[in-house]
Amino acid sequence: MQYLENEPLASYTSWRIGGPARYFVQATDATDLVQALAWADQRNLPVFVLGGGSNVLIRDTGFPGLVVRIRAHNLRLETHGDEARAMVEAGAPMAGIARRLARQGWAGLEWAEGLPGTIGGALYGNAGCYGGDIATALERAWVLVNGETQEWSAERFAFGYRTSVLKRMRADGVAWRDQPIILAAAFRLHRDDLTALARRMERTSHERRGKTPWGASCGSVFKNPPGESAGRLIEAAGLKGTRIGNAEIAARHANYIINLGGASSDDVLRLIDLARERVLAMTGIELELEIQIVG
Ligand SMILES: Cc1cc2nc3c(=O)[nH]c(=O)nc-3n(C[C@H](O)[C@H](O)[C@H](O)COP(=O)(O)OP(=O)(O)OC[C@H]3O[C@@H](n4cnc5c(N)ncnc54)[C@H](O)[C@@H]3O)c2cc1C
Repeated sequence: MQYLENEPLASYTSWRIGGPARYFVQATDATDLVQALAWADQRNLPVFVLGGGSNVLIRDTGFPGLVVRIRAHNLRLETHGDEARAMVEAGAPMAGIARRLARQGWAGLEWAEGLPGTIGGALYGNAGCYGGDIATALERAWVLVNGETQEWSAERFAFGYRTSVLKRMRADGVAWRDQPIILAAAFRLHRDDLTALARRMERTSHERRGKTPWGASCGSVFKNPPGESAGRLIEAAGLKGTRIGNAEIAARHANYIINLGGASSDDVLRLIDLARERVLAMTGIELELEIQIVG
């Protein structure tokens, strides 16, 4: 395994923002991952697990430990008549897997058409869109906890809107050594008509393209407050198109912040603060971040 020193992280994120990792390594299977964790432990370094980098804002100061990028991406299918189970490793691309299965006539993940990121990142944040989410599609998963592989039921993830027990543990400050790392997931599938499936995914893709602002982003920055849309609240606060440095609150969708080119993490963080302050002052609603801030 190749441990890179001071590896810039911007190119591993969809925002194209992020300073260097003190050390950086890619894990192509569970053995690599276990080795990387032991390597960090010996050096007393904190670890951050990165998937597709489509839901993180990495500060320009970077990460002072080891960043492990999960690359294991095998897919195995078990079929039983018109039902199937897809076992997918955590580094596989969510949308790519959904498309691959749909092309074979298997439905269950087609809502994830066009969803950026990996299986691991999707479980961590209970990703969802277009009528589906991880919480309903997941059967079980395998996680690494303190060097031991455990099989978890979907219930054990205690999924909520864009959250899971893993995300809550991080927010509660649980030490990285005690944070479970997702190795693989099993999803329930059923047979469907190939043409109907392809049509549904094409519709989703078309809708997604129509809604997504152009440019480097992390998707929605804030969660939607109950009964509200974060984007509409930010828009009502008059912030669409507001720029700080090289970052902009998208004119097309106010819950997106776009890196116009060379934006710093501070540019984005200042826009985040501004949106929070204005929405709070206007409505009394506190916007909660959907993305993870790293470093
Ligand atoms: C244009 C755009 C559109 C988007 N649209 C949507 C949408 O419609 N719906 C939606 O829900 N999200 C959306 N997102 C957000 C993003 O795609 C999802 O949150 C995605 O699931 C993140 O996966 P990732 O692999 O990129 O995670 P990362 O950004 O790499 O990581 C996110 C978090 O997951 C953790 N993590 C990653 N892998 C593992 C693992 N194996 N084990 C433990 N923890 C892990 C990381 O430590 C980090 O805390 C969008 C993003 C973009 C850029």
